Order: sequence, then C-alpha cells, then structure tokens
Amino acid sequence: MVSEVKREDDDALIAAARHIRDRAYAPYSSYLVGCAVRADGMVFRGANVENASYGLTLCAERVACANAVLGGERDIEAVAVVTESSPPAPPCGMCLQTLVEFSRDPGAMRLILVNLQGERRDFTLAELIPKAFTKSQLGG
Ligand SMILES: [Zn+2]
Repeated sequence: MVSEVKREDDDALIAAARHIRDRAYAPYSSYLVGCAVRADGMVFRGANVENASYGLTLCAERVACANAVLGGERDIEAVAVVTESSPPAPPCGMCLQTLVEFSRDPGAMRLILVNLQGERRDFTLAELIPKAFTKSQLGG
C-alpha cells in the first residue's frame, strides 16, 4: 500500500533540510548540504561535516541516517536533500547504499532533491541505486 503523502509533509521535510544546511561544516569545499529524513512521522536531520583528512568527511545524508537510527528508527520513508547545485544534486553512492540499509522498500522511499533556487527533482531510491547490495546477498 502506498501511503498518501501530504504536500505540507514534503514542505516541512525540505524546510528542515534547508535549515540544518546552515550548520554544515565545510571549510574545504564550501559545499554545504542539508538533509532531513522522515521515519514514523518524525524528522531527523544531518549536514555534511568535513575533515582536513578529506576521506573522513561525513555526508549530510549519512549523518541524518545515523540520527534516525539513534532515534530508534530503521525504516526511512522519505529524504530531502538541499544543495546549491543546479540541477539539484543526488546523494553520492555511499549515501545511497546507506539509505538502502534503512529502507524497507527502495521502490517506495522518496528522495526529494532541492536547491536554493527552488528547483526540485523527485526520485525513488530504487531509481537512483537500482541494483543495490543488500543483506540478501550475504547468504546464510
Ligand atoms: Zn554521500
């Protein structure tokens, strides 16, 4: 069953991502990213956190996922990502794989990509990572 999504729910998720983007720590790239995820009616946020050792950088999407998990959630329903890119940027591959871990149905998880100019692109997680590695590949 596909649950009905209210327009105001999307607007609130986008607003949360836009707001937390201001907290990003990005002194090296100056590329600020805000992310908000919805799970069980609650919203969890994240922003990118860079490091002088670049490989240690945390993406906004993974920070938001971790916050949801620490909040007791395991099934993320929708994700909003706010960047300055045009067209609005998708999550990187590592973040898409992380979202797969916390999606009951990647075909139903909605990704809402927005930029500061108000452009918006909507995808499902399955559209952005159609052949994801999952626990089913681990066998056993
Ligand atoms: Zn990422």
